[in-house]
Amino acid sequence: MHALLFLALLFFVPAGCIPGNKTLVGPPAFEAIEKIDLHAHIFEYIPGFAEVLKENNLRLVNICVVAVDPEHVKWMEEVAELMHLNFGSLHPFACTFPLDRIYEPGYQQRVERWLDNAFEQGAALTKLWKEVGMELKTPSGDWLMPDDPLFDPIYDHLAKRGKSLIAHLAEPKIAWLPLAPGDSTSYYATHPEWHFYGREDVPSYERIIAARDNILQKHPDLTFIGAHLGSLEHDVDMIAERLERYPNFQVELGSRTVFLAQQPSAKVREFLIRYQDRVMYGTDIARVPGENEELEPDQRPEFFRSVLETYRRDYNYYSGNGMIDYNGKQVEALALPREVLEKLYAGNARRIIPGLDN
Ligand SMILES: [Zn+2]
Repeated sequence: MHALLFLALLFFVPAGCIPGNKTLVGPPAFEAIEKIDLHAHIFEYIPGFAEVLKENNLRLVNICVVAVDPEHVKWMEEVAELMHLNFGSLHPFACTFPLDRIYEPGYQQRVERWLDNAFEQGAALTKLWKEVGMELKTPSGDWLMPDDPLFDPIYDHLAKRGKSLIAHLAEPKIAWLPLAPGDSTSYYATHPEWHFYGREDVPSYERIIAARDNILQKHPDLTFIGAHLGSLEHDVDMIAERLERYPNFQVELGSRTVFLAQQPSAKVREFLIRYQDRVMYGTDIARVPGENEELEPDQRPEFFRSVLETYRRDYNYYSGNGMIDYNGKQVEALALPREVLEKLYAGNARRIIPGLDN
């Protein structure tokens, strides 16, 4: 090609782009994009981890769970506060609220005091876990659903205070479906208590999802974050339907990127671009004493390596080009534009959740 024609073409093409959304310059470096993992449970002090996070431009929001056990919830919150106190913006946290003695008089006031205190100690938001809808019962023996009027004053209190609720309600739909033949290693194979296929004694998936939708309907002023893509991870169309219907709804990815990677890439890409202000990144990485053995010093490098592998694998899917391996499967990477990546990874969390904007 004539050198002058080549130069002219170069100037004609917008910087970094060629038609068809393919980037000429490649995705931004992993470290160049600020990452807030909105869904983590790191309740162990791991020397050296803070440095790893800083080097990789990464912050983890620690989420407290299991609120039916008053001792557990108190302990989790103390650890989360301590991590926040010691590491500041590297470890913001979500408190939860007690779910014991819920039918005793003054329950809502007790929760409001609890929440106010947790916010005072630095909690940026609060979490509601799947035990509501799948474990707790009403006095009449029915399942206690998350849209029960019992919780209305609590949701109102959060809305009034401008604090977000991140809610993990229900499970992926596959929890109600049979395991794949020969499966002995998946989450539901190893956690049969949360695997509901063929069980009569558990509420249906649809019932819990409908109860969640009813909260969104009843509390339009509550900033509501559906953890794990709002348990609609198997179908971006179902998520889009709720995002359209409920302006106060947003979702977080907590370990559900693998479900997106099973859907057509063009469709997922379009979804993430259309709802670029409503989706936030998360992994659900966890180190919880009692569930995980404390890491020995010689195990730390391997832990750091595996954590970074998770983040890089996801990043490769969202930012990369062409066919990639995701979790042993060949999928087309999404090649999201930089501004969409920036919102997904940190911008939305900063904008939506006061306390993460530092
Ligand atoms: Zn989690």
